[in-house]
Amino acid sequence: MKLPELPVFFPDATRGLIKSLDTSDIESTKTKGILVNTYHLYKDLGIDYIKARGGIKKFMNWKGFVISDSGGFQVGSLIKMNPSAGYVTNKGVMFKPVGEKRVLLTPEKSIEFQMNLGSDMVVALDDFTDPKATYEEAKISVDRTILWAKRSKEEFDRICSTIKHIAYSKPLILGVVQGGFFQDLRKYCCEELVKIGFDGFGYGGWPINDDKTFDYESAKTIADNTPKGYLLYGLGIGMPDEIVNLVKLGYTIFDCVLPTRDARHGRAYVYKDDLLKYEFLDLTKGKMMDDDRPLSTLCDCLTCKRYTRSYIAHLFRVKDFTAGRLLTIHNLRFYSMLMEKLKGLDKPL
Ligand SMILES: [Zn+2]
Repeated sequence: MKLPELPVFFPDATRGLIKSLDTSDIESTKTKGILVNTYHLYKDLGIDYIKARGGIKKFMNWKGFVISDSGGFQVGSLIKMNPSAGYVTNKGVMFKPVGEKRVLLTPEKSIEFQMNLGSDMVVALDDFTDPKATYEEAKISVDRTILWAKRSKEEFDRICSTIKHIAYSKPLILGVVQGGFFQDLRKYCCEELVKIGFDGFGYGGWPINDDKTFDYESAKTIADNTPKGYLLYGLGIGMPDEIVNLVKLGYTIFDCVLPTRDARHGRAYVYKDDLLKYEFLDLTKGKMMDDDRPLSTLCDCLTCKRYTRSYIAHLFRVKDFTAGRLLTIHNLRFYSMLMEKLKGLDKPL
């Protein structure tokens, strides 16, 4: 499937769903695509289940674009939180959560599963550089990321050569740039990934500095070392301000859990007069019960057209599922409007 007009934001449909929405709700927000999570779908359903159902799009009845991640970030961060849950070798990531079956995630398995999902864009498995890593540790993660990128691309090419046997068209494939805060390692990682050949790069690792500010320096190093015509993807990013700044650096693809997760906790993203300035409204606050305005007069979503802040606050107060649904619809429309406003602002590579 052709990539939607850029820049584009893909909300996270981790297990093949956006909580509380069906796919017609997602379409109504003018969301062009979704991200599904390889690790969770692999663990929940296995490698052949979705293929047997004609792919994730048919299974979900979703007609938009689908990106799948490699699964590496989830598994890597779970191991980081609990080192006894697994380990990483050059072979892959062995993950053994307590009470669950062991999973060996290799670059080849990740690509095979993503191809079986019928994703429009697949991502090579990478080795997460710990933000606290020394230079030597970061170099090991970069070398492993490059090794896995080669194996991922080989497996991708092998499967694509047999694609006439598969019901899907050839997806795009992205490599992920690691290296933590060491700019020479980020540059080296880009150079080696270019030699392997990808359609674009993802900004990998943890993008927040020790002082809690966003790491734009690494984002810029990656952009500066990305060949013309490549796509740049801000993996798991992010806040609207971060997206605006990354678009100015040349990034055009984003995914994040924030708009949907925040919605379920009563947090609405609302534009002020200028469409790039925004504020948060907390619909769980008592004062909202007396506010009979829509969430936003600048928004054309179902929630803003039909309901008041007071009614949504009431739904949160009585803990009805509809509260999360209505705010999720609104927040996704906020992000799709952000992408509409950012068209043409991206710096062509
Ligand atoms: Zn709205």
